[in-house]
Amino acid sequence: MGNGKYQILKDCFGYTEFRGGQEEIIDAVLTGRDALGIMPTGAGKSLCYQIPALLLEGITVVISPLISLMKDQVNALVQAGVKAAFINSSLTSAKYDETLRRAVDGGYRILYIAPERLLREDMLRFAETADIAMVTVDEAHCVSQWGHDFRPSYLKIREFAEHLKKRPVISAFTATATERVREDIVTILGLENPCSITTGFDRGNLFFSVQRPERKLTALTAYIEKHRESSGIIYCSTRKLTEEVCSALTDQGFPATRYHAGLDDRERHRNQDDFLYDRRRIMVATNAFGMGIDKSNVSFVIHYNMPKNIESYYQEAGRAGRDGSNADCILFYSPQDVRLNKFLIENSQEESDSGGNTTENNLELLKQMTFYCTTSGCLRSFILRYFGETAPHYCGHCSNCTTLFETCDITIDAQKIISCVYRIARQGRSFGKIMIVNILKGSKNAKLIEAGMDNLSTYGIMAEQSAQRIRSILDYLIEQNYLSLDTGEYPVVRHTPRSAAVLRSEEAITMMLPREPEHREKPAVFTEAPADEKLFLKLKKLRNTLAQDAHVPAYIVFADSALRDMCRKLPQTSREFLEVSGVGRVKMEQYGEFFTKAIREYVAENGEN
Ligand code: ADP
Ligand code: ZN
Repeated sequence: MGNGKYQILKDCFGYTEFRGGQEEIIDAVLTGRDALGIMPTGAGKSLCYQIPALLLEGITVVISPLISLMKDQVNALVQAGVKAAFINSSLTSAKYDETLRRAVDGGYRILYIAPERLLREDMLRFAETADIAMVTVDEAHCVSQWGHDFRPSYLKIREFAEHLKKRPVISAFTATATERVREDIVTILGLENPCSITTGFDRGNLFFSVQRPERKLTALTAYIEKHRESSGIIYCSTRKLTEEVCSALTDQGFPATRYHAGLDDRERHRNQDDFLYDRRRIMVATNAFGMGIDKSNVSFVIHYNMPKNIESYYQEAGRAGRDGSNADCILFYSPQDVRLNKFLIENSQEESDSGGNTTENNLELLKQMTFYCTTSGCLRSFILRYFGETAPHYCGHCSNCTTLFETCDITIDAQKIISCVYRIARQGRSFGKIMIVNILKGSKNAKLIEAGMDNLSTYGIMAEQSAQRIRSILDYLIEQNYLSLDTGEYPVVRHTPRSAAVLRSEEAITMMLPREPEHREKPAVFTEAPADEKLFLKLKKLRNTLAQDAHVPAYIVFADSALRDMCRKLPQTSREFLEVSGVGRVKMEQYGEFFTKAIREYVAENGEN
């Protein structure tokens, strides 16, 4: 069992290492335990059930809400040499019957089924006779009324599972992490003592950026012009604006298409496919676009307007860089967007939206979104803290960190803070972070005065600095063990063995902090230029031709990240080709010759570097 999973990881998917959380879930499922995986978009949830599906004895049934997503996943699996199929309303009845018959005969390892179909007569017969080892629920938050996308048909899953010959392993996956949704998933699906894994929400390959262009359209075209070969999504707040931006782009000759709820089904489908198959590399859309879009080579997501909350923002922006390649998430902020969103929330007809949020909640969520757009602190840190994670104040890979931060000598600040902590201890007291910041800032807070802390000699000695800055420094000192956070009933700050050295000025301490406003430079332009762009383009062209012949989107043949790895490793034989991340055995046999030949040609013309 232990080796099997690595073999499949390499043979079918072409990877050599698991990402965070994957292995734990796979191991649990292989021992017959239920599992719940909560992982952000792009973290790699699919492998968590696809690998066990190939190792367990019997069929794995995957419940998935979106037709386009099923088709994509099945395409990708078939390309990797896995016997897989889907059953949903897009099949003709002849095809439906045939698929089901083959499934009963054990012709598939993985069968995707739309939830609406589950309790149909023939499906229940299938359930009763077939050898089903696992039922996997993708987008599991759809089972909860508290999620942002409740689907009543998800309530049928449990009954379906109860019709099986023997109880299957049940595994469920979602990117939604709120407590209520999680509880609903466990109870409504009937998970038994599940192995529950929540991976961090950070997506290190995404570069976050907030910009305030005077003219959004000019800024947009400048970006697209510069990133000629990249595929990306531009989100607009309204249908009208979507139309305007899309025509402005096509008028200027950019290969853009559009998507919103005002178009008829046929056109929506066509436009979506144009984008997925790279016939149009730019999609201009409202937030109606994207649920279930698995396109792995989206290298930028630009929000032309500020969305209404961080949850939506992170989900939409997260559609960039799913294959792990570097990608940009840019938000064009203008105060007007705040007013528009406020208006929409206050004039919404519904008492509460599908997420159970009231107008008041929605306004609060909007406020947080606005803070994100206006903060001078690290953007990544802001998002992660919003989702309840701890994160350093400086990531070095967002527009604020790269333009607004500078290295500061905080030795003196550190001395002030540490001596404050000593003085509090000498009075036989201890406090949490907020109180300590208040004392240093010289606040008139009643609790502080009552405790007599305004008599400390360190009271108000950092009055000229912002509370936020003091807090950042305090957090940093704790992170670096110059102080510690003692988490009893209330977390309180205490000194550590390292504290004393700071007071004796034995160590200079520096950290990255937001620049004071008057020292700010114009934002630098973010650029990236892969060294072998020429080869990358050549391989991309080849990939397109092969994808067209196979009638699948290009990213199903190979992700951009795989092409980049080829550019780095320059594989010229099949053995070397297998070393490329994203190349499994089946794909090597299918495509190896084409790519190694192209690379051999390239190397002959250009040399190895
Ligand atoms: P999710 O469903 O969580 O949004 P996916 O399952 O679609 O994410 O995976 C996102 C991308 O990451 C895919 O291109 C997938 O091939 C890739 N991926 C998944 N697991 C690994 C891994 N262990 N190593 C490298 N890439 C991986
Ligand atoms: Zn940052």
